[in-house]
Amino acid sequence: NSVFAHVVKAPEDPILGVTVAYNNDPSPVKLNLGVGAYRTEEGKPLVLNVVRRAEQQLVNDRSRVKEYLPITGLAEFNKLSAKLMFGADSPAIKENRVTTVQCLSGTGSLRVGGEFLARHYHERTIYIPQPTWGNHPKIFSLAGLSVKTYRYYDPATRGLNFQGLLEDLGSAPSGAVVLLHACAHNPTGVDPTIQQWEKIRQLMRSKRLLPFFDSAYQGFASGNLDTDAKPVRMFVADGGECLLAQSYAKNMGLYGERVGALSIVCNTADVANRVESQLKLVTRPMFSNPPIHGASIVATILRDRNMYDEWTVELKAMAERIISMRQKLFDALQTRGTPGDWSHIIKQIGMFTFTGLNKEQVAFMTKEYHIYMTSDGRISMAGLSSKTIPHLADAMHAAVT
Ligand code: PLP
Repeated sequence: NSVFAHVVKAPEDPILGVTVAYNNDPSPVKLNLGVGAYRTEEGKPLVLNVVRRAEQQLVNDRSRVKEYLPITGLAEFNKLSAKLMFGADSPAIKENRVTTVQCLSGTGSLRVGGEFLARHYHERTIYIPQPTWGNHPKIFSLAGLSVKTYRYYDPATRGLNFQGLLEDLGSAPSGAVVLLHACAHNPTGVDPTIQQWEKIRQLMRSKRLLPFFDSAYQGFASGNLDTDAKPVRMFVADGGECLLAQSYAKNMGLYGERVGALSIVCNTADVANRVESQLKLVTRPMFSNPPIHGASIVATILRDRNMYDEWTVELKAMAERIISMRQKLFDALQTRGTPGDWSHIIKQIGMFTFTGLNKEQVAFMTKEYHIYMTSDGRISMAGLSSKTIPHLADAMHAAVT
């Protein structure tokens, strides 16, 4: 008789569970649009050429050893990651007001940031957008924060509920933490305009709300790293403080390497130094120190002008393929005369389209067309190709007619 006999079976993860169901489907036409991982036109996972080159360099360097990294990770990786987001000429970096620690991809960076706030910040409430990436509420509540939501998406316009957002942040308690998707909001694909960001910044600074940026898609939204960094840079340029979780899963295709960073921008170098000492106390009992391989790949690419340029070209190609999939899907629905306004498919940004299909329509498409996606109707545009779009368009057409 097992001492664990009382353990009940947990439900599958709502996102990764989609892949489990997909893997169990024997149909040859099955299509997985659930998970947010880039696929080529041939439907294959992609390892960037520049990543292969960097790995080759690392392997050839016989002086490299497998010693533990410091608790804060690879120092050069941390510096270059902060520079990538805040910009080469960022005063916050020059004034040593930024502390950056290497963490386990975006998820681990959010968790470490959350635990730091729960221990050391006076206001333990974090506001997350409604809807948001499904892992956010769990990450922050397990970190010890109290999670509330602010209005973000308007189903009627399939765009931003800007008024609702301003009202909700306007009535949040002074000092509350606010999670902001730096770009390419997941799952909606809806981002504020730069003018709207500026209004959000003014409101948040006037109410002393603390921004916590989640950057999982820098470069994936527009195809340009600097353009996608703009909202974050606006918040750093005003001299105020903020947190940033960065992931290299999507923009360098390093998903399984689990490489990311948490940065905290502080008022002074002295505060940043003390904050870093406390971050070490958060990560040491959590994972001791982060893995070396992925961070070494990133540092190799970011430090070398030539490799950096090659990366930006490959990144742009991924972003552009996704954008072209949006147009092709939109056109395919137009051709079929599918009822409804589908212009949001081309207006939305980043890896995902929030189709507006409901749970029943999603279930129908899975059952009849072997197309897998999360039940909120989110599809990964990066999982589509010219060959699979007609099948998807047929399924969507049938689901709504
Ligand atoms: N944040 C958002 C909004 C995401 O969509 C993701 C990945 O899907 C992540 C963070 C973190 O991903 P990872 O932990 O793989 O870097």
